[in-house]
Amino acid sequence: MTLKPPPLRDDCFALPAGVNWTPVDEALVLLRDRLAPVTGIETLPLGQAVGRVLASDVVARRSNPPQPNTAVDGYGFAGPAPQGAQVMDLVEGRAAAGVPFIGEVPPGKAIRILTGAALPEGVDTVILEEDVSTNGQQIAFHGPLKQGANTRRAGEDVAQGDVILPAGRVITPADLALAAATGIAELPVRKALRVGVLSTGDELREAGEAAGLGQIYDANRPMLLGLLGQMGVTPVDLGRVGDDRSDLRRLFDAAAGQVDIILTSGGASAGDEDHVSALLRETGAMQEWRIALKPGRPLALGLWQGVPVFGLPGNPVAALVCTLIFARPAMGVLAGAGWKDPQGFEVPAAFEKRKKPGRREYLRARIREGRAEVFKSEGSGRISGLSWAEGLVELGDDAAHIRLGDPVRFLPYGSFSL
Ligand code: AMP
Ligand code: MG
Repeated sequence: MTLKPPPLRDDCFALPAGVNWTPVDEALVLLRDRLAPVTGIETLPLGQAVGRVLASDVVARRSNPPQPNTAVDGYGFAGPAPQGAQVMDLVEGRAAAGVPFIGEVPPGKAIRILTGAALPEGVDTVILEEDVSTNGQQIAFHGPLKQGANTRRAGEDVAQGDVILPAGRVITPADLALAAATGIAELPVRKALRVGVLSTGDELREAGEAAGLGQIYDANRPMLLGLLGQMGVTPVDLGRVGDDRSDLRRLFDAAAGQVDIILTSGGASAGDEDHVSALLRETGAMQEWRIALKPGRPLALGLWQGVPVFGLPGNPVAALVCTLIFARPAMGVLAGAGWKDPQGFEVPAAFEKRKKPGRREYLRARIREGRAEVFKSEGSGRISGLSWAEGLVELGDDAAHIRLGDPVRFLPYGSFSL
């Protein structure tokens, strides 16, 4: 029997018949619903908490401001002051920030008061020093002045007992100011998510090593480790492994005790040398996700001794896109920060493109003069385009004809943090 090639068909580049390609949004919902936080909890002083995920709601111990105070330098008295020229005797002494006036200011009298000072008893209103003339014994100014003018009420910013920061929040420097101001010195936070990164493929060599015919340098590992560091998780370098199932098994076994999630690249399809998917399938806890997106071949998702494994495609462009679009929000859930969609925005296209229906597409893009430019080639091996780009343009699942100036959704690389 002679072997005949299968007939070519009109739709030979279409998606394989009989295979269900999961739309990106459906895949994302599945991920969101199936994952849960896995990180432990510890208490850290404010100085070590930036970038960590809050483990529980934080409640103000003290109001801000804690007591009524003055927002300006001036003179305080009991308001309001009526219309017209006002003259008031000054009491002796003054109120300054941190040095309160002890005693009561009698009605009709005023006291020298400086920004941030607690209002003395008998004072609820402050006139700006620029609006006053004084001889040291008395002040004179023009009314009217509303009661409470130029003062801050106790708790007008935050009341004691208010929730100031919700569980799941990634702590910012401004949050530290809020926590400190409301009497909090340490925060309950989740331990950082440990993310293992492993490259697979017989062809891979380490950057800097000699590389011969058929060999290429491992580009994914430094990229993914760097990306994870920026995202606020703890990258763990699991190294490189050839296309060898028992080596891969050993590495997975060792990694399972060390990390909370494993990202592999390469070997995730269904080919002879695709050992990541084969090994995960052996354990029975593997799902091959044929996700309708470009760039990106099937994503192999599995559990190894309870640790989620994301088998990313080997092509660096596809590996990065799949990490940003799928692994990153999944890591947010595992880390306790919850599911977050990247913050994109619409900009006019500086390109023209026809797109077929069926797959979501992510193009390497950047903004210049308010428009989204895309890289000259969509080849998924073009690493230079990843570096050229400053984000991705997302094109929806449907067919589209994008013309110059049409709005497109731009997702800056910087919007993909936890
Ligand atoms: P695979 O998914 O293993 O079939 O790999 C797809 C393509 O990506 C092949 O051309 C691989 O040589 C390439 N590739 C796989 N892993 C890496 C890596 N770590 N760095 C650069 N290229 C890679
Ligand atoms: Mg490979």
